[in-house]
Amino acid sequence: MAVPLSQMWTVATYVLGKRLRGNKRYPLVLMLEPLFRCNLACAGCGKIQYPAHILKKNLSPEDCFKAVDECGAPMVSIPGGEPLMHPQMAQIVEGLVARKKYIYLCTNALLLKERLDAGWFKPSKYLTFSVHMDGTEENHDFAVCREGTYKTAADAIRQAVGMGFRVTTNCTLFDGVDPKEVRQFFDEMMELGVEGMMISPGYSYSKAPDQSSFLRKERTNELFEMILSNRKKGWKFNQSPLFLEFLMGKRDYECTPWGNPTYNLFGWQKPCYLLQEGYVDSFKELMTDTEWANYGKASGNPKCRDCMVHCGYEPSAVDHTFSSFGGMWGTIKAMLFNTYANPSAGKKLGDFRATHKHGIPVSPPVQITVTAQATAGSAA
Ligand code: SF4
Ligand code: SF4
Repeated sequence: MAVPLSQMWTVATYVLGKRLRGNKRYPLVLMLEPLFRCNLACAGCGKIQYPAHILKKNLSPEDCFKAVDECGAPMVSIPGGEPLMHPQMAQIVEGLVARKKYIYLCTNALLLKERLDAGWFKPSKYLTFSVHMDGTEENHDFAVCREGTYKTAADAIRQAVGMGFRVTTNCTLFDGVDPKEVRQFFDEMMELGVEGMMISPGYSYSKAPDQSSFLRKERTNELFEMILSNRKKGWKFNQSPLFLEFLMGKRDYECTPWGNPTYNLFGWQKPCYLLQEGYVDSFKELMTDTEWANYGKASGNPKCRDCMVHCGYEPSAVDHTFSSFGGMWGTIKAMLFNTYANPSAGKKLGDFRATHKHGIPVSPPVQITVTAQATAGSAA
């Protein structure tokens, strides 16, 4: 089981409490972005495109605590930018641990060793380093546009695990990815000793410079079915099993963007982590002023049509788990018994041949035919 029981219990009692009080829109994970700058420049990133005066800024620890207290979600994800570049990140984490929030500190891990050696953090059940790893060494280094990052991150993961920290990986998959290589990547991550892995398809950010490689819904289902069927026993995922079934096309959910509200340098972002359709000053205003009916697949909003990203759909899956017998049973079954045996997906995986590698067409194998005449000629 990838998520510790104490965390599961906290989430279960929180969701049940909300449902019993008739509250259908509640936050599950606060996305707290204390800065946008980063020490990498990945092609698919929509965060580092801000002008320099914005990239220089940090949210103060007090701003972060105010947002966390206002929101009340039991889990706080700290993406960015690169959170380990924030000069007061140790203080922010300490304050959130004191509030008993389950923190996922999302990092590319380039600075992790340095911060661990400097004693910035202490192991705690509340703190998890969620390391950005986008595939095997070649694929990860290509995705983040810098060689050597995989090795640095893998070394930092080993060190953090050895020091007793909770460590997970988070992986965003884009079009053209080879499902066999993704499965090999899962093996590698589990060998590093991580607690679990998180995966999600990428979202086509309007700010991202590379718009061609984002997955569309049917391709997403097909790809995840190949990757996640016939699962190996040793693989552990640190996310809702029903969300993974959604990615495989086994379930359909509607987006619940209020489940992962976002707070950053501009305030509370409407309506979700991915779209930026205005900001408000308080969490209350975010919940009351956002026209939620304008978002999600059912709304017909073209920006939401192909979105299957975890920040919109994982809270829907978690809510399903705790709001119905079917959801609870589906989750238990997935966690305890299901290896997702699927011979047809296994065959598709076996037959899979990548047409592109890193956006470049892969040449098909050249078939050499020897005709009877040529053979006869050469024998003469
Ligand atoms: S590591 Fe994350 S925040 Fe940094 S450039 Fe890459 S995607 Fe953006
Ligand atoms: S479907 Fe995706 S883009 Fe649309 S509101 Fe939900 S999370 Fe945001």
